[in-house]
Amino acid sequence: MKDDLISRSALLKELSDYEKELREDREIAIETDDEQMLFAIMNQDTAICRIRRNVLHMPAAYDVDKVVHAKWLGKPLGGYSTVRCSNCRRTFAENSGRWKYCPECGAKMDGGKE
Ligand SMILES: [Zn+2]
Repeated sequence: MKDDLISRSALLKELSDYEKELREDREIAIETDDEQMLFAIMNQDTAICRIRRNVLHMPAAYDVDKVVHAKWLGKPLGGYSTVRCSNCRRTFAENSGRWKYCPECGAKMDGGKE
């Protein structure tokens, strides 16, 4: 699997939102004296803490100062119109030429090497 760019802060927000849901579920479990539900929530809460720690320590996939610039090159292939990334040379269906980043190598498609 290739690295891609995701937002660490967006992922942490998702985890926080999930924790909020867990807190609400925990209140229900306590009110209804549901030990099984409470135990399950505690396990999920522990897992979220571990995931949060890993997300915080995960190295950046790309150095933002080293953005690779490339462009889509038209390339007929087997009677079909396709586009090829000028950086990694991977070929995609023609309508992929509207993508702003190459899904294979992550190059920003705003010009660059032929
Ligand atoms: Zn590429």
